[in-house]
Amino acid sequence: MQTSEVTENIHLHWRRTKIIATLGPASKSEKKITELIDAGVNVFRLNMSHGTHEEHRLLAERIRKISKRKKEYVAILMDLCGPKIRVGDFENGEIELKSGDDVVVSCSATIGMDGLIASQYRSLYKDVKKDERILLDDGKIELKVKMIDEKDVNCEVIYGGILKNKKGLNLPDSNISTNSFTAKDKKDTELAIELNADFLALSFVRDEKCIKTLKRYVKKSGGDIPVIAKIEKPEAINKIEEILSEADGIMVARGDLGIEMRAQQVPLIQKELINKARLHGKPVIVATQMLESMITSSKPTRAEVGDVATAALSSTDAVMLSAETASGDYPVLAVNMMDDILCEMEVYQWQHGKFGEADFEQCAEMIEPDRKAVARAVKSLSNELKLQGIIVPTRSGSTASILSADRPGSPLIGVSSNEAVCRRLALCWGVVPIYIKEKITHDWQGLCNKVADMCNIATTGNRVLLVSGFSDDVSLNEPVLKLMRIKD
Ligand code: PEP
Repeated sequence: MQTSEVTENIHLHWRRTKIIATLGPASKSEKKITELIDAGVNVFRLNMSHGTHEEHRLLAERIRKISKRKKEYVAILMDLCGPKIRVGDFENGEIELKSGDDVVVSCSATIGMDGLIASQYRSLYKDVKKDERILLDDGKIELKVKMIDEKDVNCEVIYGGILKNKKGLNLPDSNISTNSFTAKDKKDTELAIELNADFLALSFVRDEKCIKTLKRYVKKSGGDIPVIAKIEKPEAINKIEEILSEADGIMVARGDLGIEMRAQQVPLIQKELINKARLHGKPVIVATQMLESMITSSKPTRAEVGDVATAALSSTDAVMLSAETASGDYPVLAVNMMDDILCEMEVYQWQHGKFGEADFEQCAEMIEPDRKAVARAVKSLSNELKLQGIIVPTRSGSTASILSADRPGSPLIGVSSNEAVCRRLALCWGVVPIYIKEKITHDWQGLCNKVADMCNIATTGNRVLLVSGFSDDVSLNEPVLKLMRIKD
């Protein structure tokens, strides 16, 4: 393959893979949020593991204010911590654990010190058994349980290191009895409803029941927010079909997934999850450590560039930055770099007509046959005729997201008179959300001309595809696919 075959100086007008940036101390100012949107962020993540409700309220207001000013539909994803287990604080902020030493993980101690770790999860002693592993600080430190003495778990340090206040604790060999939807998650969900968040992500999902519980709570509290299931436990992998049927999208949360399972299993799981989510017509996010070295370096490693590229070539809907944008030294450069890598890959995919691996013919049964058939026809028309755009008037966003799941080559313009729908579409692969204030009528020529002008996708004489005619009531479906020319 010649290098020229890869890029040929083509620049796609729209990036298809979406970028999610986590906000934090390094990026919370109005100036930084503005710069991040300019650099190409489509969705901001507010991580409920950190910060107060007051701080999140302020951030949400800032995002809304800036995106309104810039007329960009940027979504807010609030990430609930779920039953994330952490160690408590230490008298001196940290302790050193040496391989071969003994250490006690205590469910009654309030503060840790040399040889003693206080567990924030007070039932840990009930869930672990002799010889099981306790992993600390993203799995960098490993303990083995020797004996359980009332509320104290006596362990041997297998791999040591420095352990600081509030680092994560994982129990990959144990059945954890704690609830997936905690009291803190309930309070955070209420805040998400108050702030009109666009997505809720739930951590440590085990099965579809966790999603149902959260959805019931959202509804009971008067909200309507799509739920993203974070896949980070082996149990969730075993229940993925059920989870995908219930959730509105999934996140491959590789940080905890790589601790709860062997890290070398994660790349194939990632690939499988992307394909499975697509075949359910649901968006999928690849998260964690994508440009990790950019927390402190202005350039990523070659391996990190390869990781972002692989995610794009596998056709994920979105890639996510965590500490890189939340607390790193180069939040805007990290987004610029991600944007550059994604665009480079997408030009290649576009030139070779190779967006998406899985064959949509195999899509889940829950996708109704009309939509599936239309999605396949749209992809084939858009690729074969190299159309300038696919224009989809969409009330709930569902037609646009099903069309997106088949990964057509032309940009999908999701046109809605509902701003919340526009923000939700910000997460879907290849969808450019366009808000039109007035009610959308059947003047398709007028609509295509207007949209082409608003988003600068096509000029007079260019061809676009109009897709319409789906209803919530399947018996009323009268799909329309109209090839149209943009007119003056
Ligand atoms: C992860 O574990 O990869 C993840 C995204 O979750 P968190 O950042 O909440 O640990």
